[in-house]
Amino acid sequence: MLLDNHGRTINYLRLAVTDRCNLRCHYCMPEHGLQWLSRSALLSYEEMLRLCRVLIGLGINKIRITGGEPFVRKDLMKFLTELSRLEGLQQINLTTNGVVTAPLVPELKKTGIHSVNLSLDTLDRERFFQISRRDELPQVLDTLDALLRHNIPVKINAVVMDGQNTEDIIPLTRLTQNLPVGVRFIEEMPFNGGDHLNTRPLWDHRRILDTLSETWPDLEKIPDPPFSTSMNYRIPGHRGNVGIIAAWSRTFCGTCNRLRITPQGVLKTCLYDHGVLHLRDLMRSGLTDSELTDRLLYVLNHRHKNGWEAEEARRGIPVEESMATIGG
Ligand code: SAM
Ligand code: SF4
Repeated sequence: MLLDNHGRTINYLRLAVTDRCNLRCHYCMPEHGLQWLSRSALLSYEEMLRLCRVLIGLGINKIRITGGEPFVRKDLMKFLTELSRLEGLQQINLTTNGVVTAPLVPELKKTGIHSVNLSLDTLDRERFFQISRRDELPQVLDTLDALLRHNIPVKINAVVMDGQNTEDIIPLTRLTQNLPVGVRFIEEMPFNGGDHLNTRPLWDHRRILDTLSETWPDLEKIPDPPFSTSMNYRIPGHRGNVGIIAAWSRTFCGTCNRLRITPQGVLKTCLYDHGVLHLRDLMRSGLTDSELTDRLLYVLNHRHKNGWEAEEARRGIPVEESMATIGG
């Protein structure tokens, strides 16, 4: 078992395979996109597989593939197949915006993908366009349908934004009545590629919970799975459940079990740190697996206690990178 210097288990890696995306969600990046990484700046699939193998050897048993939009990277399915063959890896999960995912769902099922988080902030086509700057809602709903038909567990992620989609909180939650999905509302974080200043969100976890409780006074708290970032609830009679992720308020740091690797191979041991190890450069400079292991163990032994401490340690470097270059 891999433990950090605060005694927390580390068993989960979020691997962002690209920074590119086919949407332009304004909470994530500016309208013109980002300054995309060149191909040589990205980790190659071989480098990713090597890092995954080393980290599985240390105790990682669950990997989430994310981005950017993972499905815009060429040959992702081939990479997923190779990843699924790594010994010791128990779960591969995916986070996607669902724009081009629907036709690939049968193959995802065959590859043994354990679950999918689908980003869906609204069920209204016009609002979807306003938020993502692209008219792709029907394609995303096709992905939801395909995942459910193939019995792949789905969670819907919705970032809650004042004046933009708060009227969607109730309709999105209503999906749980007949569908076996988890709908999770996320506080907006400041990772929007410097597009706009992000102060304390007007819709924090308490306000979202109050809104749910007004419509469903019988909303029941249910136990949160180990290492869960969401506070979870059920509505009696509903097939699915609903969760709230206090991402801005950072209520979950005490049990954080995750590492992140960015598309250019920077290791983050906290969402709010500025990157603690440049794995791509270390690999390209010829480090052996055992030397890489030593470097990884060192940074895990010097992990920040929580997001506030990690942010403080950035010493004046503002938190303004895009979530697409971190992986969510
Ligand atoms: N493109 C994929 C997608 O949207 O699902 C995967 C990458 S995206 C960066 C991962 C998750 O981060 C999504 O669920 C998205 O809603 C969330 N996210 C992006 N920017 C955010 C922000 N500023 N605050 C909170 N969540 C954010
Ligand atoms: Fe793309 Fe996901 Fe960021 Fe939206 S949240 S712009 S879909 S990477």
